[in-house]
Amino acid sequence: MEIEIATIGGYEEVGRQMTAVRAGSDIVIFDMGLNLSKVLIHDNLRTEGMHSLDLIDMGAIPDDRIMNDLEGDVQAIVPTHGHLDHIGAISKLAHRYDAPIVATPFTLELVKGELEEEQKFDTDSDLIEMEAGETMTIGDEGCELEFVNVTHSIIQAINPVLHTPEGAIVYGLDKRMDHTPVIGDPIDMERFRELGREDNGVLCYIEDCTNANKKGRTPSESVAREHLRDTLYSMEDYDGGIVATTFSSHIARVKSLIEFARDIGREPLLLGRSMETYSGTAKRIGVDFPSDVEMVGYRHAIEQKLEQIMNDGKENYLPVVTGHQGEPRAMLTRMARGETPYELDEGDKVVFSARVIPEPTNEGQRYQAEKLLGMQGARVYSDIHVSGHLCQEGHYTMLEALQPQNIIPAHQDLSGFSGYVDLASDKGYTLGEDLHTTTNGNIIQLV
Ligand SMILES: [Zn+2]
Repeated sequence: MEIEIATIGGYEEVGRQMTAVRAGSDIVIFDMGLNLSKVLIHDNLRTEGMHSLDLIDMGAIPDDRIMNDLEGDVQAIVPTHGHLDHIGAISKLAHRYDAPIVATPFTLELVKGELEEEQKFDTDSDLIEMEAGETMTIGDEGCELEFVNVTHSIIQAINPVLHTPEGAIVYGLDKRMDHTPVIGDPIDMERFRELGREDNGVLCYIEDCTNANKKGRTPSESVAREHLRDTLYSMEDYDGGIVATTFSSHIARVKSLIEFARDIGREPLLLGRSMETYSGTAKRIGVDFPSDVEMVGYRHAIEQKLEQIMNDGKENYLPVVTGHQGEPRAMLTRMARGETPYELDEGDKVVFSARVIPEPTNEGQRYQAEKLLGMQGARVYSDIHVSGHLCQEGHYTMLEALQPQNIIPAHQDLSGFSGYVDLASDKGYTLGEDLHTTTNGNIIQLV
C-alpha cells in the first residue's frame, strides 16, 4: 500500500497546523489550524466573514490546495486538541471535504463554537465524539484510527494514530509528558511503548518540536499548581486588590486559580469572553472543574461587576482576567490603562500565570502592559507557568518508546527544528533518509 504524508501547514511556523496522511485511497487530515499572529498583526481584523483564499494568502490558514495532488478520499478530519492553531481553520476549510470531524468531547465542543461563529461558509460535516483509548475504522482498506491520551496545556488532548497495513503513523502534536496532571489522566506512555513493539511498528512519527531547542524535561502541571499555591498563599494577609491572568483555554490552571483564591478567602470571578467560552465549555461537558464559579463574558456586564467589586471591597475578590500577553484590548491591559471601574492601588498584586510567547509583538505588548501596571503602583508576579510542550528529554523518551522508522519534525520553523535534528541524529537517524525536515506544501512518500 502506498503511504504519503502531505505537510500542509505548521512546518514553517508555530501555527496553522495541518497534515494529511494517505494510505492507499484513504486520507485522514490531522488538524486545521490558524496562525493567530498573522491575524492580530492587522488591527481589528474580523476573520468570520473572510474568504479562505484571502486567509491563505495572508498566511493565516493552511494552503490546502496541495490536497489536489493526493489521490484518494478524505475519510476524517481529526483535530488533536482545542487550541486555535489546531482547530481555527476548520470553519474555513472543512466544508471542502466530505468527511466527518472526529475529536474528543471538549475539542468537539470548541469546534462547534467555531462553526457557529463562521459567517462565510456552512460546514455540514458529521461531528463524531471519540475518547482517548478508542478506535474507529477508516475506509475499507484495513486502516484504523486510534486516540492515545496525552497531556498538554488544554484538557482532552490526544495523539491520533493511523494504523495502516504498512505500520502505524503517529501524529505527535501537541504534548508534554505529565504523570501527575491536575485534570484528566496521565500521558499513556504504556500505549506508546506497545505501538513501538507491535508487528509492523511505527512507520512514521510526526513530532511537536515547539521546545526542541530546550534542554531537560518539561515539568508537570502539578509543579505550576504548587508554584501558584505558594504565590497566592503568600498574599493571604494582603487586604487590597489581587488580579490574576492566564490562558483562558488552560482549564487546569484556571481551576487552580479558582481553588487557591477561595483558600485565601476571596471569591474568584472569571472575566472576559474567552474565559467564559473555555471554562463554560469545560463546566458544560462535566470535567473536573468548579461548577459554582461566576463567569462574565460581555463588556457591559463586566463593567458592572467591576463596579460592584469596588463597592464591596477589592479584598473580597480575585478576578481572573484576559491579557496575559499584554494584548491591547484585553481586560488586564484596560485595567492597567485605567479604562475600567477597577482601580489599582499602590501595592496591589497582579499574577501572570503564563509566560510571554517569545515573539516581538507579544514581548512589546507585554512590556508595555507591565509598565502601565507599575505606573498604577501594582506589583507584578510573572512566569508562574510550565510549558505544554516536550523538551529534549521528552523527545528522547518518545523515540525510545516508539522506535519509529521515519520521523517528521513539525510545529516549528527550520531553526526551531535544529535541536530535534541533533537529538534524532544522535539516535542514528539520517537527515534526508529517515529524518525528514520539510516545509509547508510538500508530499513525503514513505511507501
Ligand atoms: Zn496546543
